[in-house]
Amino acid sequence: MFILFGTKTRFKTLSTGQFYCPQCRTRREYELRLARDYFTLYFIPLFPINTRGEMVTCLSCNTNFQKEVLAVPEPANSPLERMTREARADMDSGTPIEFARQKLINIGLARDLVDQTIEQAAGPERRTCPNDALTYRATVARCAQCGANLVAAG
Ligand SMILES: [Zn+2]
Ligand SMILES: [Zn+2]
Repeated sequence: MFILFGTKTRFKTLSTGQFYCPQCRTRREYELRLARDYFTLYFIPLFPINTRGEMVTCLSCNTNFQKEVLAVPEPANSPLERMTREARADMDSGTPIEFARQKLINIGLARDLVDQTIEQAAGPERRTCPNDALTYRATVARCAQCGANLVAAG
């Protein structure tokens, strides 16, 4: 007969709530958990022998963070950042960069802000249509106007 013993890490949920997850870059549900190593006998945890500390787990991406992450403030969402994000989503769904630019001009955004927003939203790598010279974000494969396969720009 032999006695089988060992250790096992167990987690105890201390609290739950919402926090700004740096991995998801948005507000998410979290669990604050206490991690402890237990002495086990025949795989049955008997008593804690070591406390590893508290950790915050994002319930969306399952990333573990130090408890300090709960104090991280949510980044301010400026209107310009929002417009940049929307323009990028537009471009990712196949809108030519020229059309996205025109949309911002039509809104009445100042020209230098239009340039800045489009540059940021489009990113450095772009593709272009060999037929009509429209440019797209690198995530787009085909021209929305004529259906041609896009080629690397520049
Ligand atoms: Zn997350
Ligand atoms: Zn085209």
